[in-house]
Amino acid sequence: MLTIGLTGGIGSGKSTVARILQKYGAEIIFADDVAKQITEPGMPAYDKIIEHFGADIVGEDKKINRKKLADIVFSNKDELLRLNEITHSIVAEVIIKLVDEYRDSGRELVVVEAIVPIEHGFLDVVDTVWVVLAEESVRIDRVMKRSGLTYEEAKKRIQSQMPDEMYISIADKIIYNDGTLKELEEKVWGLLSDEKNSP
Ligand code: ATP
Repeated sequence: MLTIGLTGGIGSGKSTVARILQKYGAEIIFADDVAKQITEPGMPAYDKIIEHFGADIVGEDKKINRKKLADIVFSNKDELLRLNEITHSIVAEVIIKLVDEYRDSGRELVVVEAIVPIEHGFLDVVDTVWVVLAEESVRIDRVMKRSGLTYEEAKKRIQSQMPDEMYISIADKIIYNDGTLKELEEKVWGLLSDEKNSP
């Protein structure tokens, strides 16, 4: 089984790459989905987040209000670090378990898509790391279009994350996604062929 770790900053296009790989039969694990699941009521990170951020971030439906949480952590680096400390190790545990399950059931290609890939053994579970990069202006544009954030908000989110150099330092393969979707698809297909042909 080949396990690809797919990463890159917000708006770079990593989910789009994941969806392309899905067309080639890959099972995809989205770390962001796992992170959401573990913060649901009754799940392992729920109480820890409320303990730190206070009961104000809980909505009437007892769920953590993700918008409120995002507003806090994207305007304060220390709070983002704290949230990451609480959630990353639990997310990594769940991902490692899922990868093992896919391996045991005979899957050939598994992709783990994650925005923060460097902590808690994440890199150990993947065979190769693909990094998706795009110009900041292109990313701001994509994030604004998709989420309705203002220019300033989108820029702030991008700049609160790992810089490109850090992604590049852990990359086995780099995908520059500044062009069309068709070009992206061709790049992904080429890289996948390389991976499959490498010993
Ligand atoms: P996030 O971390 O926020 O999930 P991401 O890196 O996964 O971001 P995507 O969701 O894949 O990024 O892409 C962001 C937006 O940009 C999406 O709406 C997607 O359709 C669009 N997009 C991605 N790549 C291209 C491209 N090459 N051409 C045009 N639009 C693109």
